[in-house]
Amino acid sequence: MLARFYSDARGRVAGPGAADYMRGMSETQTAAPLLPILIYPDLVLRKHARPVTPADADEVRRLVPSMFATMYKAPGIGLAANQIGSLLRVIVVDVAPKDEQNPIALINPEIIAQSAETATQEEGCLSIPELYAEVTRPARVKVRYQDLGGVKKEIEADGLLSACLQHEIDHLNGVLFVDYLSALKRNMLLRKLAKAQKR
Ligand SMILES: [Zn+2]
Repeated sequence: MLARFYSDARGRVAGPGAADYMRGMSETQTAAPLLPILIYPDLVLRKHARPVTPADADEVRRLVPSMFATMYKAPGIGLAANQIGSLLRVIVVDVAPKDEQNPIALINPEIIAQSAETATQEEGCLSIPELYAEVTRPARVKVRYQDLGGVKKEIEADGLLSACLQHEIDHLNGVLFVDYLSALKRNMLLRKLAKAQKR
């Protein structure tokens, strides 16, 4: 996900040692190879990613640093595996303000609770370049996931992190932020994108 506003990002990881699991990631993520980001209307973006199993451990360890490197380079605040052509349920997010880092890799993320209250954020997507639109989603979510060590964790999020997690988990289900817009607004945006791609 892309976002032009960083001011209201809040979130916390529940459980002991929550900050530990990404230790060492900042060195690897800068050295990891960048991956090409698939651009709409690539059909992989519409595919349902499959759950990660222990047999995927090596692939995930290889993938995640590259996903972070690719996301930071873009720059974006979230990236889902579909966007770089992998169909594993893996997302990476970092909504920390510029000059700070708070990378979180989520394996098999699922929303287990959401608020009835909604919030509207302007969203963009690395796979739908340079287009932004306001999207209304549940204001707060609780997400269960596994960290890179396979440990089950939960994260409660509101603000930008909440929108970002929902946006990225949507990707794993083949859903794009433009799907939330009215047909009129969506067609307008996608026509703009098609025009830009011809240039
Ligand atoms: Zn996106």
